[in-house]
Amino acid sequence: MSTEQPETLPVPPMRLRTPFFMEYPLGLFNGRFSREMRDNGRLMGMVCRHCGFSMLPPQAVCSVCHGENFDDPQWVEMGPEATVAGFMSFNMPFIDTTDLSVQSSAYPVGVLMVDSPGRTAGFLWHYIGETDLSRVHNGMRVRAVFRPEAERKGLMTDILYWEPVRDSATTQGDQDHVSR
Ligand SMILES: [Zn+2]
Repeated sequence: MSTEQPETLPVPPMRLRTPFFMEYPLGLFNGRFSREMRDNGRLMGMVCRHCGFSMLPPQAVCSVCHGENFDDPQWVEMGPEATVAGFMSFNMPFIDTTDLSVQSSAYPVGVLMVDSPGRTAGFLWHYIGETDLSRVHNGMRVRAVFRPEAERKGLMTDILYWEPVRDSATTQGDQDHVSR
């Protein structure tokens, strides 16, 4: 029997990442965005003064025209309703990066196009407050449900979830679904 070792490919070294906490100021625009959620329970975005594009969360520099909006920014309230543009079930625990706690949710996660004036980049990833996936579909209308004021912290979790809108403002697709 040969004692010669077969040629093997090296494996990459194991790398360990140590989590660390950091704090940084949100800045003028995201600072106001967070304060408005916490103090007034509303979503404030911006309309670019150069091209009219709506931005949520607000940005100093426009994603579309790259125009600067530092001076006299045009704030506008967006939502509280949105349209579901995509969604997925989320049947696994996840780590909250703000405190490394393990969280889970029975709600599906959606890409939500938040109502805003004109053209928009105003979309958020957030929970859809409907656990029956057969009742969730693209195009359905939802409304933000904020935590009680005393529980808000200026984080996206100030919104508990987005509840389906099942009144006359629902889209045709939602009406079709409800009538089934
Ligand atoms: Zn612009």
